[in-house]
Amino acid sequence: MTFVDFGLRAELLDAIQASGYTTPTPIQQQAIPAILNGDDLLAAAQTGTGKTAAFTLPMLERLAASRPADGKRPVRLLVVAPTRELAAQIHESVKAYGKNLPLRSAVIFGGVGMQPQIDRLRRGVDILIATPGRLLDHLQRGNTRLDRLESVVLDEADRMLDMGFIHDIRKLMKQLPKQRQTLLFSATFSSDIRRLASGMLQNPVEIDVAPRNSAAETVAQKVYRLEKSEKRRVLSRLIREGDWQQVLVFTRTKHGANNLTRQLDKDGLSAAAIHGNKSQTARVKALDGFKRGKVRVLVATDIAARGLDIDQLPHVVNYDLPHVAEDYVHRIGRTGRAGNEGEAISLVAPDEAKLLKGIERLLKRPLDRAETAA
Ligand code: AMP
Repeated sequence: MTFVDFGLRAELLDAIQASGYTTPTPIQQQAIPAILNGDDLLAAAQTGTGKTAAFTLPMLERLAASRPADGKRPVRLLVVAPTRELAAQIHESVKAYGKNLPLRSAVIFGGVGMQPQIDRLRRGVDILIATPGRLLDHLQRGNTRLDRLESVVLDEADRMLDMGFIHDIRKLMKQLPKQRQTLLFSATFSSDIRRLASGMLQNPVEIDVAPRNSAAETVAQKVYRLEKSEKRRVLSRLIREGDWQQVLVFTRTKHGANNLTRQLDKDGLSAAAIHGNKSQTARVKALDGFKRGKVRVLVATDIAARGLDIDQLPHVVNYDLPHVAEDYVHRIGRTGRAGNEGEAISLVAPDEAKLLKGIERLLKRPLDRAETAA
């Protein structure tokens, strides 16, 4: 199967080709025809499966196919995402795939000034990508309207629930036209997600491409058992001896991320932290430095790491194991993406043995133990 088989217009096919994709991923194969058909969709797909293109491409096709007769530019597609990083990433995809189409898009999220966003909204946008809180703010102030909305996408809905956005989401949905297409993407179908979906989707097509909690098969996963006090030294050594040029390291807390970043810097390894207490500018700067190879180690907390799209990330390290076993699957989903091989290493101290057991239970298999010549 190729992208041509979907009947997408040439402008989109050219953009897909420019992105270097030749074959649709499983989620794309299943979601694109359903979305083009106008169906509602409930999709279980994790990051790394190609889910962003799976909804962006057919949505662009639909928007391009029907332009408002009055020549105005009301918001016709809304994409809601839990984090600024994910929203920004989706916007990048919309711009890349839509570069040959006469459609305008904007991204709005909190933590930055309102005015530039207001100016952008006033000029008219066909596609709006937003985090829930800031979007509601704009709607309350009358900076934009959604009364001519045709489709809405909720991306990483499970994370939105985890982050406490449920009320915002419900409030938002009430403001959308009843007659619309709704797509909901989530890493897993929990009962909470099903409840949310049942209230807002109509006869949805259901797709489940990432069997729940199955870690990407292209990721080699290893566990190093060691004392907490040894972690930093072992991490520095792994990076140096493996000559890793780009590694994403997860810590459980913001404080832990800051500490580790300082220590790695002391060890002569360029590192930057990315977490919820950092300003948007600081996060963008850290991510940008990392993508361009200036920062070798990016230290992140789970929530901050959501929505980071870094191509071909070869190494992910769990400096601390996450408290929630599912987060392990999300973390290692940052490597081995879209067919690239990756390695995920977990540094496990004795007091984390229980967390490790929980993860192995979830994965339904033990993880390989590796020797540390610490
Ligand atoms: P996502 O699941 O949307 O976060 O996408 C994961 C990664 O896969 C992104 O880096 C995309 O650029 C890439 N990607 C999306 N679709 C394809 C495709 N059909 N072939 C190869 N890579 C893809």
